Amino acid sequence: PRKRVTGDTVEERLTANARERILPARYLLRDEDGGILETPAEMFERVADAVASAEDDPETWSDRFYETMTGLEFLPNSPTLMNAGGPLGQLAACFVLSPDDDLDDIFDTVRQAARVFQSGGGVGYSFSDLRPRGDVVAETGGVASGPVSFMRVYDQMCETVKAGGKRRGAQMGVLRVDHPDIGRFCVAKREEDSLENFNVSVAVTEDFWAALEADDSYEIYNPRTGDVHEVSEATAAFYNASRADADPRAVPENVWRDYGDDVVGVDEFRGDLVEVGEPMSLPARFVWRLVVDGAWRNGEPGVFEVDRANREHAFDVDTHPGHRIEATNPCGEQPLEDFEACNLGHVNLSLMAAEDAPLWSDFEHGGDLEARVEAFLAEALDVERLDRVTRWGTRFLDDVVTVSEYPLPEIRETVADRRKIGLGVMGFAELLVQLGVRYGSDASVEVADQVMARIDHVATATSRELAAERGRFPRWDESKYAHPTRYASWFRRHTGEDPEDWADGFPIRNHGVTSVAPTGTTSMIADTSGGCEPIYEVVYFKNVGRDVQGAEPLVEFDDYFLRVLAANDVDVDAVEAEAKRLLGEGEFEGAHSLSVPGEILDLFPTARDLPMEAHVRVQAAFQANVDGAVSKTINVAHDATRDDVADAYRLAVDLGCVGVTVYRAGSRTAQVLTTKPEE
Ligand code: UDP
Repeated sequence: PRKRVTGDTVEERLTANARERILPARYLLRDEDGGILETPAEMFERVADAVASAEDDPETWSDRFYETMTGLEFLPNSPTLMNAGGPLGQLAACFVLSPDDDLDDIFDTVRQAARVFQSGGGVGYSFSDLRPRGDVVAETGGVASGPVSFMRVYDQMCETVKAGGKRRGAQMGVLRVDHPDIGRFCVAKREEDSLENFNVSVAVTEDFWAALEADDSYEIYNPRTGDVHEVSEATAAFYNASRADADPRAVPENVWRDYGDDVVGVDEFRGDLVEVGEPMSLPARFVWRLVVDGAWRNGEPGVFEVDRANREHAFDVDTHPGHRIEATNPCGEQPLEDFEACNLGHVNLSLMAAEDAPLWSDFEHGGDLEARVEAFLAEALDVERLDRVTRWGTRFLDDVVTVSEYPLPEIRETVADRRKIGLGVMGFAELLVQLGVRYGSDASVEVADQVMARIDHVATATSRELAAERGRFPRWDESKYAHPTRYASWFRRHTGEDPEDWADGFPIRNHGVTSVAPTGTTSMIADTSGGCEPIYEVVYFKNVGRDVQGAEPLVEFDDYFLRVLAANDVDVDAVEAEAKRLLGEGEFEGAHSLSVPGEILDLFPTARDLPMEAHVRVQAAFQANVDGAVSKTINVAHDATRDDVADAYRLAVDLGCVGVTVYRAGSRTAQVLTTKPEE
């Protein structure tokens, strides 16, 4: 059966979870005493009006924005739904604020980030400019405490501020792989309660990959001097403590020696890794083991392909180093310049199957896959609707840039100059089910590629039309769009246009238009699968915070799964009762525990059923067709080895992903989505 949103009123179109729990807890405006001031329909009206106020014809556009949001075809990121037309007025989800190497700026950034959290945004930071632990501090004659110890201050601030805000403050901490403290950084989250309010990613460089390939060492730089780091005593003590013969009592806090037999990097490095006073280099294999070991233990650090992000950036950072990107937002979908913010919106692909769409099995005979999928999608997709939602969504997000307020003047200026937006998708997995395509199959990868390419090109064309109507982004002259033939392959990739047709420059309103976000809460409001992720599970508990769920965890059935069962004459009530009973007894081991026909289960492969390659290939197909990046978790089985995790990272990087997160099932105790109730 097709997914369709039915119901005459907005209330009827929403699920009970959305209507009664999620929207009241976090989105509907409240008065000073906490009383709810609006209905869901009024919320959408407020947002549509506020955003359309940027238009010359606000009535027409407000109606369109209202229609597309209440049809659940398109939703903006949470801060826009919460704050548009409200007292806070800050509408973006993504920020990057990177501290400079001085105490004032480190603490100014703490204050700035607190302001962002209050408005529901998340912040990424590069800590790569901070001098390493043990380095000189000229003013006091003392020694520096290093990025990781400052991160603990940020972590505490985030922990404290989150109680006041509407949702958890999310933070991303990035450190370059050639920073002297990279070892400390990689192991900083070993203990589960440390840096709890941070995701951490290592910014990996091409020099690093080359060294890893050659099993060689690579140079480590001190950001204070810009030169190769001269090993301090603190640095030497830390790294050399990892040697097999090191005295365990000399091991500083958090070092891997404490962790029993499955330590990394010990046996191979019997001599001193680094010597005090020498120019510093590290064996790439050693650092790589730390990254992989951390990811295997509890999903972090992730990997951020910083050189690739800069190559794909709309500005040539070799000629315009001021535009260099060092970090991403918390979930990784937006590499951003310092002080840049970005707002996101998502096309609900689960509603884009044509009324009379054929099934993929009708096209599944041999021959060129690309051509077959193209012919298939021409019939299976409601292309007109997809294009309209993409155009309206792009316009909506550009309006958000105009009407949003920002917590700092630096952010306001940076955003006004660049106007980056992030249009993406949700419901990809549910679209596939309707088309009869199995997530992770060759056909699904091709579908991902073609659908996202279409969205990207239509969004780009819309941004070009907006440039004609409203002007290009002010920094356009500095961008690659001003010189399509000079950056021909980049230009083709990001616009789908022939550079020769635009030799005098390609006018565009936004320096980036697409990315794929997790859509953690927005996909729940739209009642579909998140971002480009597979269906997580056909039934699960959802731990979303007590304000939403009360004392009881939400039991969430994939309601589309239930509809497919019903359409195939399966007794849905019996299946629900069976699932609830198994969950309650802690015996639920996935959809396969249920009495459901195998052909149906085949179309609902869940995150944990899929092989690692399926996750990676889908992510790479989306990445190839966005300006920013893709937020996706590569799930691997609980019994996956460190080598399996390393393979997942390498495959993702080889296939062109910009950010990679690998998560081994059950490796954290607190998970947002789980099939076991919280203790
Ligand atoms: N984000 C945040 N706090 C959260 C969830 C998300 O600050 O609790 C930010 C973060 O920058 C993330 C972005 O919002 O990368 C998009 O996340 P998602 O799509 O899950 O947010 P939604 O709009 O669905 O709530």
